[in-house]
Amino acid sequence: MATQMFIGGTWTDGTATRTRRVTSPATGEVLGEVPISSAADVDAAVDAARKAQRTLEAMTAFERAALCHRVADLLESRTDELAREITLEQGKPLATEAREEVHHSAGNFRMYAEDAIRLDTEVIPSESRGKLVFTLRKPMGIYGLITPWNFPLMIPCELAAPALVTGSAVILKPSEFTPLIAARLVAICEEAGFPPGSINLIFGERETGEALVTHPGVTAIGFVGSAATGEAIVRAAGMKRTLIEASGNGPQIVLDDANIDAAAAAAVRGAAYTSGQVCVATERVLVHRDVHDAFVERVLNDARAVVLGDPLNATTTMGPLNNEPTAAKMDRHLGDAMTKGGKLLLGGERASGYPTKLYYPMTVVDAVGTDQLLFREESFGPVLPITTFATDDEAIALANDSDLGLQAAVFTSSLKRAFRYVHEIRTGNLQINDSTCYYEGRPPFGGAAGTKTGWGRIQIQDFTDLRTVTIDYENTRD
Ligand code: NAD
Repeated sequence: MATQMFIGGTWTDGTATRTRRVTSPATGEVLGEVPISSAADVDAAVDAARKAQRTLEAMTAFERAALCHRVADLLESRTDELAREITLEQGKPLATEAREEVHHSAGNFRMYAEDAIRLDTEVIPSESRGKLVFTLRKPMGIYGLITPWNFPLMIPCELAAPALVTGSAVILKPSEFTPLIAARLVAICEEAGFPPGSINLIFGERETGEALVTHPGVTAIGFVGSAATGEAIVRAAGMKRTLIEASGNGPQIVLDDANIDAAAAAAVRGAAYTSGQVCVATERVLVHRDVHDAFVERVLNDARAVVLGDPLNATTTMGPLNNEPTAAKMDRHLGDAMTKGGKLLLGGERASGYPTKLYYPMTVVDAVGTDQLLFREESFGPVLPITTFATDDEAIALANDSDLGLQAAVFTSSLKRAFRYVHEIRTGNLQINDSTCYYEGRPPFGGAAGTKTGWGRIQIQDFTDLRTVTIDYENTRD
């Protein structure tokens, strides 16, 4: 039986006329199917959300926070089953990644619960006597949340938790590649006691997303996905509030004074984690020419130690890619590199002998020029493209030669040099002496201005609508 939509607290087939199958990238087995929501289903979800939103807003922040803690408790108590489901549907290794994703998912609900009860606002000195000026943080209203497949549980949590805890109702449209784990999250929110209609679940592809974005009853959009979709959403959303968290092309820069062992290990980790399908993956490596050979030697050593295989197996450190379009993009980027002077050092094509054609080995390509797709675009696979530079000026110019700007990493022993990069690299986040894929839930996260990585930060303030109130307390009847 198909997994159903969840609208107004009820599981339903809605008015869907089509379903979509969900196939495991790890095993090739059909895991389930979901209905494709129609425009009428989006209407129904908006109606349900509108009713629930009043109830949610009337609750205190403490009451909503308590529900979020309950969601976190339930997520944590079901870590084993949820992690297994993530592995089967997404493909990431169970032991090293899927369990961690559940942990971070629960962590998001806890963190936003704590943030919400400390979301103080200001009292502002007034220019007039007898007036009190202060601000409130109101809910955005009805949030449409559109999410990708690489962190199919955690990203819905990153967006739903701050929306719900600040009093907005949510309509979640997860990726068409990973809808099943999203249904588990929604069921857990219901079990935790969120009022019916607080969190609704619809399914579908681009058309369903568009219907959500353009629906007049949806007041804000939270989007995580590719830059191209982000831009389409912004155009369609018009004046609606949008939070756009899109693609990265994270360079890791290795200076001549860097700890080469640490830099190599970080680069491989940044390309192998979730098989490189992370917005903050190490998409490019820029290495100083004096340390190039030593760095490449260590990278190859570490890359050979990555164990590609069945992600349910405890010894596996890298699973398959999630879907065919992503694998086809890797094929295309590597083919392009081979015609433009790239030097293949490891991997380079899909691995055979696995249950699906989505298993890609760790791949290392040297002599990557700025004209290659590996350099220009987000590859989203387990590939380390290496480009050599001679000066800091050149490294900074190469790093910024991208229309994406999410996260970069710089390896150096010099704080003075590090700070030059801190100021001159155009990314929203920068790691000094750690991998591009280093993650913490608490710091504000998002893209840099002047790039197509998006805007807004995944932090509680960005999920609220600031209201300024001025009270004339002299001008009353008493
Ligand atoms: P995608 O843009 O193809 O799809 C994302 C979501 O948007 C899906 O739910 C999809 O159905 C929906 N969608 C597609 N077209 C739409 C439209 N026109 N209107 C409304 N919705 C639409 O991205 P993806 O392949 O699922 O995810 C991979 C991308 O996500 C990568 O580029 C990655 O860098 C990015 N990402 C960014 C972050 C971040 O925080 N910045 C985090 C994770 C992933």
